[in-house]
Amino acid sequence: MAGLARVADVLVVGLGAAGAATAWRLAERGHDVVGVDRFDTPHDQGATHGRTRIVRTTSFESDDYVPLGIRALDLWHELETVSARRVLHPTGLLLLGAPDSRMVRTAVDQADRFALAIASLDHDQLCRTYPQLRTATGTVAVEEQHAGLVSPELAVRLMVDRAAHLGATIQTPRAVSSIDTQCNPALVRFADGEELRVRHVVLAVGAWLGDIEVSSRSLQVQRMVVPWFDRLEWIASGPSLPAFIHERGEGATPMGGMPGLPGDPQFKIMALVATEAPSIAAVERAVSRQQYAAVEEYVRTHHVYLNPHSTGGQVCVTLDAPDGDPVVGPHPRRSNLSLIGALSGHGFKFAPAFAEMVCDHIDGSSAARIPFICPDRFSDWSAAHDPLLLDISELENT
Ligand SMILES: Cc1cc2nc3c(=O)[nH]c(=O)nc-3n(C[C@H](O)[C@H](O)[C@H](O)COP(=O)(O)OP(=O)(O)OC[C@H]3O[C@@H](n4cnc5c(N)ncnc54)[C@H](O)[C@@H]3O)c2cc1C
Repeated sequence: MAGLARVADVLVVGLGAAGAATAWRLAERGHDVVGVDRFDTPHDQGATHGRTRIVRTTSFESDDYVPLGIRALDLWHELETVSARRVLHPTGLLLLGAPDSRMVRTAVDQADRFALAIASLDHDQLCRTYPQLRTATGTVAVEEQHAGLVSPELAVRLMVDRAAHLGATIQTPRAVSSIDTQCNPALVRFADGEELRVRHVVLAVGAWLGDIEVSSRSLQVQRMVVPWFDRLEWIASGPSLPAFIHERGEGATPMGGMPGLPGDPQFKIMALVATEAPSIAAVERAVSRQQYAAVEEYVRTHHVYLNPHSTGGQVCVTLDAPDGDPVVGPHPRRSNLSLIGALSGHGFKFAPAFAEMVCDHIDGSSAARIPFICPDRFSDWSAAHDPLLLDISELENT
């Protein structure tokens, strides 16, 4: 049977933010792309759902991200142009904290060095400009003016549609069950028993990568809870607060929030912490009232215009590398396999820029390797995972 399998240029496995962006960028370059996802996309089982994502160019995580954020912003605009749809809603972003907090200091410094547009607000200006917020005395804000919001569901749909428009073959729902990259072309088996030969495989399976242990340094599956809040009735028509990230000092959980996109009156506010899970299959999908309690308390004390009782929310599941940075680039031991994953809680915005790096590698360009995210920064990659067996147990049980 294997000898009869069709041969394609590149297979992208997984069509969340990472895979959809990769399929799009590869198709733009004229590759013969096949993109598959185990679910119809977009869906709410992985990490690319929940109505909004913040797209910003400052990065309190590291200066290394700033050029990637700037490039990604261009690509989000390109997606708007080619799809003739509004993708980025330039709402701005408030970075809230003490004047000497890492987030505030880093933003001011990066704005200076990378020519990013920001405005600084002292505590009085913050209170006057945003009466929706009640912050501790001394809290200041850096407002990043080019930052904004993207609907992850719409972005995935537009990227996949664009790839298909350019000739990519998109197959959903379709799960890959194993990938053998020892042979060339690689041999891919689907859960339905069919096979495909491909010259290059891009693995973009999000938290499902945790199940297949590509490195003995474990990639960690993380569960995050995202609650929504209504505005109080008396202020329902007033101006909304922009998206924000609030660093509250020693011992207090940082918080993040985003207004709904036009037509969505709710505000999403979440604790920027995650709970580890042994695998994506083990993630508890239901959210108890208790799990909203800390965020509700934060809303009660800081957000004057919001009803502090959450209307409910969702669970998202991400994957974190041990150092917190994504894993993007060629597999260290397999020249016909690339990885784009472990995007953790902040990788959505970079997806098109990361996808370009994967395309560069496939096209043989040396620009492809960015050391701090390249898989070879972990020294202990094993070749013992050939063939890679992807966990499709949930599908088999349904
Ligand atoms: C609550 C939350 C808030 C966030 N906020 C932000 C933000 O504001 N800004 C930002 O930049 N980032 C943010 N992030 C991060 C970002 O959303 C994620 O890192 C990103 O969406 C991950 O995308 P992904 O494609 O790697 O994974 P996923 O979206 O999980 O996609 C993986 C895909 O692979 C498919 N798949 C798995 N196994 C198989 C198989 N065997 N065969 C075929 N398909 C398979 C799955 O069905 C899935 O569609 C946030 C994350 C969370 C959880």
